[in-house]
Amino acid sequence: MAAIEMKNIVKQYGDGFPAVNDVSIDVEDGEFLILVGPSGCGKSTLLRMIVGLEDITDGDMMIGGKRVNDLAPRDRNLSMVFQNYALYPHLTVYENIAFPLRLANKPDSEVDQKVRDASKTLELDEHLERKPGNLSGGQRQRVAMGRAIVRDAEAFLFDEPLSNLDAKLRGQMRTEISRLQKRLGITTVYVTHDQTEAMTLGDRVAVLKRGVLQQHATPRELYENP
Ligand code: ADP
Ligand code: ADP
Repeated sequence: MAAIEMKNIVKQYGDGFPAVNDVSIDVEDGEFLILVGPSGCGKSTLLRMIVGLEDITDGDMMIGGKRVNDLAPRDRNLSMVFQNYALYPHLTVYENIAFPLRLANKPDSEVDQKVRDASKTLELDEHLERKPGNLSGGQRQRVAMGRAIVRDAEAFLFDEPLSNLDAKLRGQMRTEISRLQKRLGITTVYVTHDQTEAMTLGDRVAVLKRGVLQQHATPRELYENP
């Protein structure tokens, strides 16, 4: 059973051309899937339908074998890392990472254990008392990932997480995300319009064009058969 199964997914906004048109993709357990394509091809819409931030017009969205079309985001056990990181500026790194656990009313001892484990994995343990405003872009990115890790989510979803960074940092973060994803072994769906990211990060790449799935293959297969 695949971790995430998209079956004939359609999204229709108003009465125009479908933004996502009959897309079927399986994401295997632990797989890193890239959704790539030009601006407006429907990548974000598809990602938002996985997370539950957008209603599905037609088709079945399955997570862990369960149909989730009608489930609220909080009941899907996924973790989305947004482009702007969505960190709380007035909270420390520690409290930013702890936030989902606080919302869930977890006991302090559990919060502390999980935040310390996550911050060690992410090499943030020296920065726990700092505020997001005086962290580097890469550190902020890692805090956002820390918050995702402590949720014990079934999958990570990334919406162009590196697009606001300069080229050098982008390269570093790419390496870091890839390393971390492999270490955690967590199923990941990553949206980008960047071909380099698409060809270097993922186990498989799904190429969308005007809402239609054009290709779904490993980077190597795409390279040999563009
Ligand atoms: P991408 O992420 O690939 O840039 P989107 O998923 O954002 O593409 O958009 C796909 C298509 O759906 C585009 O034509 C876009 O204009 C349209 N669209 C996206 N969001 C909305 C919305 N909330 N209302 C109407 N149309 C939308
Ligand atoms: P609240 O309104 O209680 O402050 P949010 O609106 O931030 O909470 O989130 C509502 C629910 O959506 C949360 O309980 C959580 O389970 C889920 N959620 C919040 N952020 C994310 C995220 N980044 N990825 C996935 N689910 C999230």
